[in-house]
Amino acid sequence: MSGEFDYIKRNLYSVMEKIEKAALKSGRTAKDIKLVAVTKTVEPERIMKILDEGILDLGENRVQELTKKYDILNSRECKWHLIGHLQTNKVKYIVDKVSLIHSVDRIELAKEIQKRAEAIGKIIDVLVQVNVSGEESKFGISVEDAYGLVREISSMPNLRVKGLMTMAPYAENPESVRYVFSKLRDLSIDIGKEKLDNSNMEILSMGMSNDFEVAIEEGASLVRIGTALFGKRN
Ligand SMILES: *Cc1c(COP(=O)(O)O)cnc(C)c1O
Repeated sequence: MSGEFDYIKRNLYSVMEKIEKAALKSGRTAKDIKLVAVTKTVEPERIMKILDEGILDLGENRVQELTKKYDILNSRECKWHLIGHLQTNKVKYIVDKVSLIHSVDRIELAKEIQKRAEAIGKIIDVLVQVNVSGEESKFGISVEDAYGLVREISSMPNLRVKGLMTMAPYAENPESVRYVFSKLRDLSIDIGKEKLDNSNMEILSMGMSNDFEVAIEEGASLVRIGTALFGKRN
């Protein structure tokens, strides 16, 4: 039987095929790449379609939208990723709900997460978001300051740094942002060598609908994909 949302399943298979090919090019397999389905603006009915296909990692960039969908989908086994800019005063709403925060880019935010995580006795996995391209419109700490931030976080008992995240500038031709991904990979290798407490560089969160194949070729271990799965957002 074909249903209204079958296109999501077809899109998923097409994305997975591309992930597999790109992974092979970097000496890995699709199993080495985690797909986070970016569900911002996508209604719960359509999100359920992707959950039914076994994709349980969901990414939201707004706190309010995440908490709302968290409640609606609470009977499902999904794992929530906060991928967008996080205001310090909103940490309290998500700290008990997220499995990974991708967007830690300043010490004040890390301190607030530490405080809220300690209060509920939880250890929170985080990524440090790096603004590799230096584009003013992008959040993230500079490449130069990233190591210092990881080091400061490594002394916080309720946070674990699991790696780095970046967003490349939008590019018609993704080859033109390949350098962004290779620079983040190199940075994660350098930081990994320091063997800081409570930190590792397991996760490289980079690659979106438009550029995930290039990101995987450059070493991404997690891609955040919305449009290529659910179609254009309104
Ligand atoms: C929206 C968003 C994505 C997904 O973008 P698509 O182009 O729809 O795949 C990935 N990462 C972040 C941080 C986003 O805000």
